[in-house]
Amino acid sequence: MVISEIFIIAAVSVFGASVGSFLNVCIYRIPASKSIALPGSFCPVCKYSIPFYLNIPILSYIILLGKCKSCHTPISIRYPIVETITAMFAAATFLKFGLTVEALFWFAFISVLIVISFIDIDLQIIPDILSIPGIFIFALSPLIVESMSLKDSLLGILFGGGSLYLVAVTYYFIRKDEGMGGGDIKLLAMIGAAIGWKGVAFTIFCSSLLGTLAGAFIMVATKKADAKLRIPFGPYLAAASVIYIFKGEAIINWYFGILS
Ligand SMILES: [Zn+2]
Repeated sequence: MVISEIFIIAAVSVFGASVGSFLNVCIYRIPASKSIALPGSFCPVCKYSIPFYLNIPILSYIILLGKCKSCHTPISIRYPIVETITAMFAAATFLKFGLTVEALFWFAFISVLIVISFIDIDLQIIPDILSIPGIFIFALSPLIVESMSLKDSLLGILFGGGSLYLVAVTYYFIRKDEGMGGGDIKLLAMIGAAIGWKGVAFTIFCSSLLGTLAGAFIMVATKKADAKLRIPFGPYLAAASVIYIFKGEAIINWYFGILS
């Protein structure tokens, strides 16, 4: 790796951390229907408005030892975590796709998924204001991503929305209960728009696997065999679709290689 490449990775990571800082604002303000532009960042406890020099992603948290400068209320560790995750994905998309429009497209897609996942973890909802416009925006995928066709994208939306809808209806008739939320259906339609019907198939399979493993782990860790334990499914769908973007083809080839 040459020096210039290391320099670009560093710059891309700093850019990613700054985007992550904005994603934190989105995660807290979008579900509350508050503006994501104004006002600037402030402490939710003492309303101290955070000056720009104390609003540096990741670093500020370390410098302030995780406490508000004014009232010393602990700041959630989630802020630097979201910034770090976003920085890492910025670097990862650059390493895989280079400095291209495609890299920017996937980074935007992953950023929306980060916001959706954390909102789903907090509130068990996926705001329509993210998923529905997302279906249209990420349907631009065939214009940007070489391996995607318009047919792939449209089938992805139909398959993504349709398959989970079928699961939800079936579940409702068997359990008389809403197991799968409508938010998950719109999210998978958005994912389908970006990565196509094959990506949706991979995402359903992989997210179920991730969800089952995590569910089993939580059951063992908490010693509670509560099948109705409400675990938001959005983060698993998001994680599976991101795995598809980076490693989907390799995993599929490996999988069918074993079968043949
Ligand atoms: Zn404060």
